[in-house]
Formats: sequence, structure tokens, C-alpha cells
Amino acid sequence: MTSFSDLGLSEEILRTLTELGYEEPTAIQEQAIPELVAGHDVIGQAQTGTGKTAAFGLPLLDYLDPASGETQALVLTPTRELCIQVTQALRAYAEHLPIEVIAVFGGQAVATQQSRLRQDSHVVVATVGRTLDLVNRGSLDLTSARYVVLDEADEMLDLGFIDDVERILRLSPSGRQTSLFSATIPPPIERLADRYMYDPVTIRVTPKQLTVDAIEQAFVEVPARQKVDRLIDVLRAEEPEQAIIFCRTKAGTAKLDETLRARGLGVKALHGDMSQGQRDGVMLSFKDHRLRLLVATDVAARGLDIEHVTHVINYDVPDVTDTYVHRIGRTGRVGRTGRAITFVTPAQRPEIDRIQREAKTSIGEWEPPEERLEHAPRPRHREHPSPVETGGPVKTDGREAGGDSGEVEQVPAVAKLFMNRGQRSGIDEDDVRWALIEGAVVPEDAIGSIRVLERFSFVELDSAHAEQAVERLEGTKLKGKQIRVEYARG
Ligand code: AMP
Repeated sequence: MTSFSDLGLSEEILRTLTELGYEEPTAIQEQAIPELVAGHDVIGQAQTGTGKTAAFGLPLLDYLDPASGETQALVLTPTRELCIQVTQALRAYAEHLPIEVIAVFGGQAVATQQSRLRQDSHVVVATVGRTLDLVNRGSLDLTSARYVVLDEADEMLDLGFIDDVERILRLSPSGRQTSLFSATIPPPIERLADRYMYDPVTIRVTPKQLTVDAIEQAFVEVPARQKVDRLIDVLRAEEPEQAIIFCRTKAGTAKLDETLRARGLGVKALHGDMSQGQRDGVMLSFKDHRLRLLVATDVAARGLDIEHVTHVINYDVPDVTDTYVHRIGRTGRVGRTGRAITFVTPAQRPEIDRIQREAKTSIGEWEPPEERLEHAPRPRHREHPSPVETGGPVKTDGREAGGDSGEVEQVPAVAKLFMNRGQRSGIDEDDVRWALIEGAVVPEDAIGSIRVLERFSFVELDSAHAEQAVERLEGTKLKGKQIRVEYARG
């Protein structure tokens, strides 16, 4: 995993990031920062929430010359709100650098901004109209603006500023580094990039990448012939409140819909070959929860609010990771029930690895819910080997188990607790044990197995202390992360 210190940033910036609590770079930061540090022009297709401000801001702040008070960087924003927001962010990132960040936007007295610009103004964050206004008044000089950032360029286009943006670009030095961030890249933005950027590197991220981790993901490997049967098994076992089953093609969607209906499942299809009226009817019944299972193509499902959908089934594995992220990223926002299950044939198995790698997530092999419950808390702790591993009786709380007296062993009742943090949060068994002993004041010998998984953990402990552990740990922090502790299901 890439860390901020791998990206070529200065010690001052790294210190600030630690202080801000940024632990690791977001996708756009990981990809854009090295390019910008290397001096390349960058087009970042990224929305608010992806961390784009730091992606362009950190390299820029690091490469300015504090000794010169000239405006060396210009960040153009479509609105005053964004202008203020970006200014605040850049000032925070420049905490340990002698860099002045000035905001310039319409609606505030020009004179105030003019006098501010007479002092050091290494970075000017500005709305488009006010920039030209101040340039025309001779208060803002762009001839030293080596770094120009167009933030939310598609918004500037929508607001009719594109010609003014071009004018501003022509006023800045031709050898500048230009970066452009935009949620979408419509043709006029593409033309602008062609004309005013030098050999730009394009980076695309979706904010969904930040959210798929909250979803339980699994895959089912099955030969193509048995796919329908396995799908039916999975649906029976999962009992989804509502599921969308994604297929790659319209024909595939229609066929699966037909097959599932013939097998007695209450399902409907949504695809582009249906009339608008038919589609509206299906959408409505799905939205009203009258329909539980929907088979759809990506395009057809676009208009659906799937936040309440409990299951996303990728009947056909998406060939683009973005599609995977987009399909599953919208589910399970309400409650904790979001599950995504992806079907692959043995030949498609490497696709799962690709998705795991590209979406930085983990996808395990699917298990029916009962087995999941059974497996998850099963003791694997080294200090508590199972009878199978030792080939003999094990000690449980100081008493011999499995003796030949014929009596039923009185093992104290054990409670299983779930904690919403795991290896990903840098937590290991000792941390969990420490939290139980120090945080919840549970006696050490009341703690049984602790199993730390990728994203959550399970603890077995003497049930006499379980309530106390839940009460005292719930909502507290472990290694800086807020934890949630509750009784494990089952
Ligand atoms: P932005 O997309 O630039 O508006 O950033 C969205 C939010 O994410 C802001 O509140 C940032 O402070 C925060 N943020 C940006 N990068 C990171 C990071 N690497 N780790 C944690 N938070 C971040």
C-alpha cells in the first residue's frame, strides 16, 4: 500500500498530514501527486469527496518559492463557495510552510482584495470573473503563475465561464504546469485541455472507491452450466430483502429473467429493449418494494435508487472495475446489510483478483449465512488449540474437558462479540485483548479466542463479562479508530 511518504512530498507537508489525521492517500492523491511532482500536466476526473484538493494542493505548495511574494499559483474555481473551501484547505495544508494563500471572489469589496494582493500572495484561489476583473485593474499579475489549477472545470463550463477561463490561461506563462479537475469531461473541456495543456496524464477515480469497503463482498466460482442453479441456491440462502442481479447484456438479462421465472422466482427484468412504459412499471414496483428481485443491465439500472437494496448480485462479472464499484457502491447505505456477490466461472477467477487489486478491497469465497456465522467466531487462537490439533483433551478454564467420567462437562457459557474493526485498521489480537482488559476491565482469564479478520474481529469471552465489554467499549476508540462492539449474530 502506498503511503504519503512514497509520493515525493516534503517533511513539512508530511507532518501536516499526520496532524490532520490523514493516514493514507486517497486514490486520486496516490495517482496524481507523483505525476504533479514530476512536473506533468494532469487531468483528474474526480468529484468532491475524493480528496482532489490535496491531490493538486500538496505538490503545488511544496514547489513554490516562499522567498518570492509573486503569485506563483492560481487555482480557478467556478463558485465563491468552492473558492472559500479550497482556500481553507490549502491554508491548512500550508500550516508549516511560509506560504500565503489568498482568496479572491465576487461579492466582496474589490479594494480589500486589491490591498491583500499587494502583499505576499504565493497562491491565489479565485473565481473566474473576479480574476479577470483584478487583472484588468492591474492588481493581479499572472505572468509568474507557474501553476494553474482549474477546479471543477465542468461547472465553469455550465456557468458559461469557459471563454473567460481560456483568456486567463492565455495570460499565464506558456511554460506553466496546468492541472484540471472535473467530475465529467464533456467535449468543450476536452478541447480546452487539448489547446491549453501539455501532454496531460489523465486519472479517473470515482468517489465510490471510498465506500465499497463498507459492503460485505463475496464471490461464487461455478462452471457456466451450473450458474443458474447456484444463483438460485445463493438467493435462497441469502433471502435478500431486495436484490439487483446484474447481467452484461440485454439478451442475457431477458434470458435470465425468463429462466428464473420458469423456476418459480418472483423476478422482473429491466433492460433497454423494453418500452419506456414497461420500464417505468418495473422501476415503480421495485421502488415500492412490491418487487424483490430485479434482473438488469447497468444502463437500465442507472436511474434506480438502490441505497435500500440489500444485495447486489453480479451474475456476470463486470469487465471494468469502475463498473463493479459503481454497481455495489450504492447498496447497503442503510443499515449494515449491504452484500455484493459476484459470480465467476473458473476461467474468470483472475477477474476477482483484478477487482480486489484495483478497487483495493477484499472479496472472499461465498458461504451460506449459517456457515458464515459458524466460521467467523470459530477459535483459531494459537494458545487455544482445538482437540483435533492436539489430538487430545484441551484445558478449558482449568478444567479437563472430554474426560471419561461420562458426565457432561460444565463449560461456562461463552459469549461471542463482534467488533467493527480489523487488520485494516491496524488492529491485532493484542490490541483487542488490551482493550478488553484495560478498557472494559474484563479479567484476562475470562477472554477466550480473539480472531482479527480483515475488517472486523470476533471475541469469545465468559458471558458473565460480555455485557460489561459491550457497554464499556462501544463507541470508544482503539488505535484512533472509533469502535462498535455488539453481540455477534447467532
Ligand atoms: P475534497 O475531495 O478535496 O473536497 O476532500 C474531501 C474531504 O476528504 C476533505 O474533508 C478532506 O479534508 C478529506 N481528505 C482528503 N484527503 C484525505 C486523506 N488522504 N485522508 C483523510 N481525509 C482526507
